[in-house]
Amino acid sequence: MNREISKLKNQAEVMIPTKFGDFKTLAYASSSDEKMPHMVLVHPDTDISSIVNVRIHSECMTGDVFHSHRCECGEQLDWSMQYIQEHTGVIIYLRQEGRGIGIINKLHAYVQQDKGLNTAEANRELGFGYDDRTYEDALTILADLGIERIFMLTNNPNKIDAFDNSKIEVVSRVPVEIDPREENKKYLETKKEFFHHKLGKV
Ligand SMILES: [Zn+2]
Repeated sequence: MNREISKLKNQAEVMIPTKFGDFKTLAYASSSDEKMPHMVLVHPDTDISSIVNVRIHSECMTGDVFHSHRCECGEQLDWSMQYIQEHTGVIIYLRQEGRGIGIINKLHAYVQQDKGLNTAEANRELGFGYDDRTYEDALTILADLGIERIFMLTNNPNKIDAFDNSKIEVVSRVPVEIDPREENKKYLETKKEFFHHKLGKV
């Protein structure tokens, strides 16, 4: 991402009622006219001085908005919103679509996957890294919110490793396991075998 991390700040906030309950909704960007700010949902009863449940979710328009079954992102986001509604906490929605390569390239990668490549190989075939996501912006947002200790909702050990040597302590992990579907079985197998995600159901 090209954002200047030091300038990232909360540009607007308002309460939004959702299917899962009310969330204080914040938009983080380096300027007030940024069209693609990171979005942050905060359960109104969240105690930031305690250990906070945090889901850091990278944008997946096909999964999150259109409920695609090629991946389980949308179901993970819904699960996290439900969990945080029940247990309080924060969702940080990072605008790094398609493991950081953007929606157009992700669709190109899907074409490669339909020819038999796995999700990692497809990104490489297009000239990208296996996973171009970064989590510095999430660290900046958590620090700005005054959060120091978190329970991280993830299956991805790399996301936890990104917090090594940071000021935020990951106290433990909360698994976000979704039942595999026929359409995303191969994708989830690659996540487990290639990216070492902790997926007990795959
Ligand atoms: Zn997805």
